[in-house]
Amino acid sequence: MAAAPATRLAALVEMLRDTQWLPAQRLRAGQMQQLAALLQHAFEASEFHRERLSSVGYRRGSPVTPALLAALPVLTRSEVQDHRAAIECRRLPAGHGEPIPIESSGSTGAPVRVLGSGLTKLFWNALTVRSHEWNRSDLKALAAVINFFPKLPPGGARRPDWGPPMNRLFQTGPCVGMHIVTPVDVQARWLIAQQPTYLVTHPTNAMALAEWFLAHGERLSHLREVRTMSEAHPADLRQACQSAWGARVADLYSSREAGIMAIECPHSGLYHVQSEHLIVEVLRDDGSPCEPGELGRVVVTNLHNYAFPLLRYDVGDLAEPGPPCGCGRHLPTLRRIAGRIRNMLVLPNGQTLWPSIAGLKMGRAAPIRQFQVVQTSLREVQVLLVADAPLDAAQAQTVRDIVAEALVHPFEITLSYRDAIPRAASGKFEEFKSLVPAPGRGTT
Ligand SMILES: [Zn+2]
Repeated sequence: MAAAPATRLAALVEMLRDTQWLPAQRLRAGQMQQLAALLQHAFEASEFHRERLSSVGYRRGSPVTPALLAALPVLTRSEVQDHRAAIECRRLPAGHGEPIPIESSGSTGAPVRVLGSGLTKLFWNALTVRSHEWNRSDLKALAAVINFFPKLPPGGARRPDWGPPMNRLFQTGPCVGMHIVTPVDVQARWLIAQQPTYLVTHPTNAMALAEWFLAHGERLSHLREVRTMSEAHPADLRQACQSAWGARVADLYSSREAGIMAIECPHSGLYHVQSEHLIVEVLRDDGSPCEPGELGRVVVTNLHNYAFPLLRYDVGDLAEPGPPCGCGRHLPTLRRIAGRIRNMLVLPNGQTLWPSIAGLKMGRAAPIRQFQVVQTSLREVQVLLVADAPLDAAQAQTVRDIVAEALVHPFEITLSYRDAIPRAASGKFEEFKSLVPAPGRGTT
């Protein structure tokens, strides 16, 4: 009989406590062993990968080396969009659980649908626990989550523990939650009433909150740490959180389809690649590896996804490899990650909020390759689309409905087609962009 989920999670967390201190060579050898098993499975169970692996001379039982991996072509988002059925593996080895559908609009507004498994979810949970352990989280303290989980009501909710995965292994303190489409001033007043020790939210929203607190001279005297994920950081976020609340920022670099790729090290502020779970490469345009200090494409091989092998998958982010960290862990580092960013939406009454645009739903509504939503005025919002063909009337209406739902206020929404949507000069991709000047600090 399979071990109970909490037992498996506890065992993996325990293993990760040891492996984080392994010498780099041992980590690399372990990765090659796992990669050999994954390639053999992908060769046997995925039509797309069989062809691709054959093209670089791989045969069943071939020795697996870093050179073989480097010879494999990079898997693009657009290939995942086009060849989903052929990439998918219908048979999963014992112990991997059931396939789990995963949808992601990724970091460049290009929606993809892939599969994960019980095992990839287990790693996600174990690495979440690891991030709390690295940051020495006080598990008894109150955590406030401002996110877009559908179950969070706009007025806020409370639960007696931090929820999964932490409540599976530990007795934690309570957690309060509020939906992120709540205007920032309402969130701020709610936080003052709650007085949390931890705040978990998206970087753009954290920045808007910090600015609100600075402008209003209000404090959150218990707040110790702001935990962020999913987006690149606005330039001054750490400084703003320090000034507003005396709180540090703990960041996590993940994507829904690739998993938790790197966790910020409290010792140095560098991000440690989660080598036990995936191989992360940072590549130049010509495909050669970047040196520390160079910004390149993030290409990931998830070593445990046997349902939808992501072999050298181009996540769509740019990052800069970092130097070794002084904490004693030999997990490689990234110094900087340029993923997606969202601007805050400005409502006609001056309130601002984080627009929760469901890019995934948009990808399902129509054959959309990439999108960007741009607020052009206090009345109008434009949806820029890269699509295989112009949308028909029903598809266009669905896209407008999805955007309207996220923006809360009845904006006039128009669609506009593009050949491509480039990144901002910073290297970051602006999934939601506002051309309306944000109201001055203090305006609510
Ligand atoms: Zn470190």
